[in-house]
Amino acid sequence: MGALAPQIDESYLLDLARRLVEIPSVSGAEQPLIDSLEQEFRAFGFHCRRFPIEPGRDNLLVSREPLGTSGSRRAQPRGEHVEAGLSKEGRVLCLNAHADTVPPTGRAQARAQIRDGCLYGLGSCDDKGPLAAMVAALLALKDSHLEGRLDLLVTLEEETLGRGAREVIARGYKCDWAIVAEPTALQIVPAHAGLAFLSLHAVGRACHGATPEKGENAIEKLFYFVQVLRTEVSGKMEPHPLIGPPSLNLGVLRGGDAPNRVAERAEALVDIRVIPPFTTADVVQLVERSLARSEWRGISYELQKAGEALSTPTDGLLVATLKEAAAAVTGSSPSIAGLRAWTEAESFQTGLGIEAVVFGPGSVEHAHTQGEFVPLDELAAAARIYAGCALRLLG
Ligand SMILES: [Zn+2]
Repeated sequence: MGALAPQIDESYLLDLARRLVEIPSVSGAEQPLIDSLEQEFRAFGFHCRRFPIEPGRDNLLVSREPLGTSGSRRAQPRGEHVEAGLSKEGRVLCLNAHADTVPPTGRAQARAQIRDGCLYGLGSCDDKGPLAAMVAALLALKDSHLEGRLDLLVTLEEETLGRGAREVIARGYKCDWAIVAEPTALQIVPAHAGLAFLSLHAVGRACHGATPEKGENAIEKLFYFVQVLRTEVSGKMEPHPLIGPPSLNLGVLRGGDAPNRVAERAEALVDIRVIPPFTTADVVQLVERSLARSEWRGISYELQKAGEALSTPTDGLLVATLKEAAAAVTGSSPSIAGLRAWTEAESFQTGLGIEAVVFGPGSVEHAHTQGEFVPLDELAAAARIYAGCALRLLG
C-alpha cells in the first residue's frame, strides 16, 4: 500500500493554495497566476509549455518529461499544431484545473484566510484549492517511477468561454485519461449536463393597447413559445440516473415600450441543460422543428453558447482506479455523482474520445459565493487521491 500512497507535503500544499488565492485571476486576467505557477514549476525542475489562446495569454502545460521541442513562449499561430502531449512515454494522464475565477462578489476578495480548518477566499474551492492539490500531487511523484507521463494542464477562461482545454487539444495535445479538478466534495463525477444558451427574437404587430386583438403581441408569443419549448425538451430527453432531468430557464424576457401599445418586438434568453445522449445539435434541431409551425412565424433564434454533456462509463478503468485511490485515502468508497454544470472534462471527451471525470475538494454550493471556502482535510485528501490514481494508472 505504501508504494501506492505517496507522501504529500501538506504545509506546502496549504501555503500554495493560499498564495494562489491571493493572486487575483478573474477570467481574462489570469496571466500573473500562470507566470507565478510556471516559475514555481521550473524551480522544481519540471518542464513547462505554454499554449497561447491569444498573444500574452497562455494556458500552461506542466510535466516531469520534456514537452515538445522548445517550450517556447512565442505565440503559436492559430491552427498550427504543436508536438506536445504525444504519448511517446506510454500512456498519459492529464490533470486539469482552471486558473480563472468569477469576479468578486460581496466580501469574497482575493484574500486568503484560514479558520476553522478551512481556507476562505475567492477561488478557494473553484478552482485554486483543487489546482494546488494537483500541483502537490505532481510534486509528490517527482521522483517516482512512472511508465507513462503525468501532465498538469492549467487553463484560462473556464468560467466564461470554456475554451482553454478545447484550444490546447485543437493544437495537437493528446492524453489517454483526464481528471478535471472542480469542487465535487470528493465525489467522482463521470457525467454532467451539457448546455445550450439560446437567444430568441420575436416580431409581432403593433397596434393600440385598447384593441390588442387587432395586433400580435411579440412578448406573449415569445413567452408561449418558450413554454412549448420547455415541454418539448422535457418530453424528448430522458432523465439521467446521475444528472436528473433536463431543464430550461427563461433568464431574460424583454420587449415592448408602452402599456398602451401592443409589443412589436421581444427578446428572450434561455438556458437549456442537455441530458446525454442528447447533444446541443439535437436541441437546435428541436428548436428548428418547433419553429417550423405556422403559429410561431416571426420568431427566430441564435445559439449563443454550447457545451456538450459528459458521459464517461462508470465501469471504465478511470472511474475504477480513481475509486480505488480514493478508498485507500479516505477508508470508504467514494460516491459517484452527476453535475448539472458544464466542465472542461467534456472538452477532453469530445476532443479526444477518452475517459474523463471531474473530481476535487470543496463543494460546488460554495463556489461563486461570497463565503467561498475549501476544507483543508479535503484538500490534502484530494492531493493524495490524485497522486494515488496517477501511480495506479501509470506505475
Ligand atoms: Zn470551476
